[in-house]
Amino acid sequence: MALPDTVVETLTALLGAEDVDRSPAALAASSHDTWPLSTKLANLGRHPYQAELVVRPRSFDVVPEVLRLATSHGVPVTVRSLGSSVTGQPLPVRGGIVLDVSAIPASHTVNERNMTVTATASQNGGDLEAALAQQGFTLGHSPQSLLRSTVGGWVSTLATGQFSSMYGGIEDLVTAYTVVLATGETIELKASPRAAMGPDLRRIFIGSEGTLGVVTSVTLKIFPARLPTLLSTVSMPTVESGLDVMREQALLGLRPFLLRFYDGDEARHALQDPTAAGPVFFLGTRGPQAIADAELSTLHELCTSRGGRLLGPAAAAAWMERRFDFSTVENLVAEPGGFAETIEVAHNWDGIGALYTALKTALAPLSDEVLSHFSHVYTQGTSMYVILLGRTRDDEEAVTRLRAIWDEAMRVCLELGAELSHHHGGGLARSPYSRRSLGSAHLVLEKIKEALDPAGILNPGKLGL
Ligand SMILES: Cc1cc2nc3c(=O)[nH]c(=O)nc-3n(C[C@H](O)[C@H](O)[C@H](O)COP(=O)(O)OP(=O)(O)OC[C@H]3O[C@@H](n4cnc5c(N)ncnc54)[C@H](O)[C@@H]3O)c2cc1C
Repeated sequence: MALPDTVVETLTALLGAEDVDRSPAALAASSHDTWPLSTKLANLGRHPYQAELVVRPRSFDVVPEVLRLATSHGVPVTVRSLGSSVTGQPLPVRGGIVLDVSAIPASHTVNERNMTVTATASQNGGDLEAALAQQGFTLGHSPQSLLRSTVGGWVSTLATGQFSSMYGGIEDLVTAYTVVLATGETIELKASPRAAMGPDLRRIFIGSEGTLGVVTSVTLKIFPARLPTLLSTVSMPTVESGLDVMREQALLGLRPFLLRFYDGDEARHALQDPTAAGPVFFLGTRGPQAIADAELSTLHELCTSRGGRLLGPAAAAAWMERRFDFSTVENLVAEPGGFAETIEVAHNWDGIGALYTALKTALAPLSDEVLSHFSHVYTQGTSMYVILLGRTRDDEEAVTRLRAIWDEAMRVCLELGAELSHHHGGGLARSPYSRRSLGSAHLVLEKIKEALDPAGILNPGKLGL
């Protein structure tokens, strides 16, 4: 639909002409995120998902007015923070307005007694963690994209971090947040420290990918940062033996902050040693010295009793230093014809072994390398992360290949009853599969959407809505 002139005029009056942008450069830039398929399309000069207007408010105070206006004219609004999504979540598939909140100045306040921090939703994660570190605190939430994502983005995507086996995912870390609804009301969702007053409404917007409201501020737990920390690297004879260790340590109630298990193919990359053979663990424990020592020695026992070999802390320590590095994927995607993709899924313990074998087998013909690791563990199962690397003749072929990879990976997961996403979310990549993935519960999502966003303006075309 063409954007009504009155909407553009009202937004210009509200925000100022410089923050209401119809330039081709702004529209093209906001039509892509960090999804490799989207990057490939950008390299080909294609912008299939393009807004008609990009607005960049300088304060969240104007968001209720922007959303009321869009609702009254039925204009789509897609919220965008730092665009680090790797599944096309912030792409405006139905045109309309991109509401880019990344330029909104952020601030935060720490409550040392309650051990929480309240931050503006546009707060960059890396800046917040650095500020907290100066006071001796940490968020505990450390996604690989920490330095290039926002706290509002984390809540909206149900993000999780590399240290989740100790601190949990964002759903465990959020204690309160505020949301503006499509109809302009501002809602505060909180519980101090727990509440049983009806359903847990705090969960509704977590992972809603901008389809139900705009998150404007977030309160997160914080933790002491300056605790003794131990690291270790352990090689394992088989993938099965490592999965057994992950399960066993979860059942014993261990909480290592670092628990990453690479299959033999990814171990070569993780160890930065092309001659490395066999799967490998990176382990880390943190806490009062006696606890950190005891947890690491228990983990070592679990590994060695299954044929594991202790390799010392160096490789795990080197990984800690480069844990935000995404250059293997980014450099390959930047090459003409090169492609790379990351797909994270999850399954219960009784299905994860079969899922691993099936995904590796199904994806091997579609790429030069299929790497895999398991890095978020629960008592009932674990995540599985697949990295695909390859080269084709040109970017056209790379786009076709990436689409085939998604189709095949999602097909295998649906067939084996696995979760289609562990933490990167639905976005465009998984929207076609959202209904099948959620099953009968998708009706609840539809009804919530109808109630909270009656004109259907917020990020339409995602999550199967
Ligand atoms: C190198 C790399 C590593 C990554 N590692 C991880 C990882 O370890 N763990 C993980 O969970 N994810 C990871 N991601 C994915 C991504 O960083 C996360 O999904 C992140 O939470 C997105 O934040 P963002 O601020 O960039 O949001 P964007 O990408 O701009 O937006 C993502 C979605 O959230 C919505 N949204 C954003 N802000 C708001 C808001 N204020 N209100 C309402 N909706 C909003 C958007 O509409 C969109 O649907 C990684 C990405 C990259 C590129």
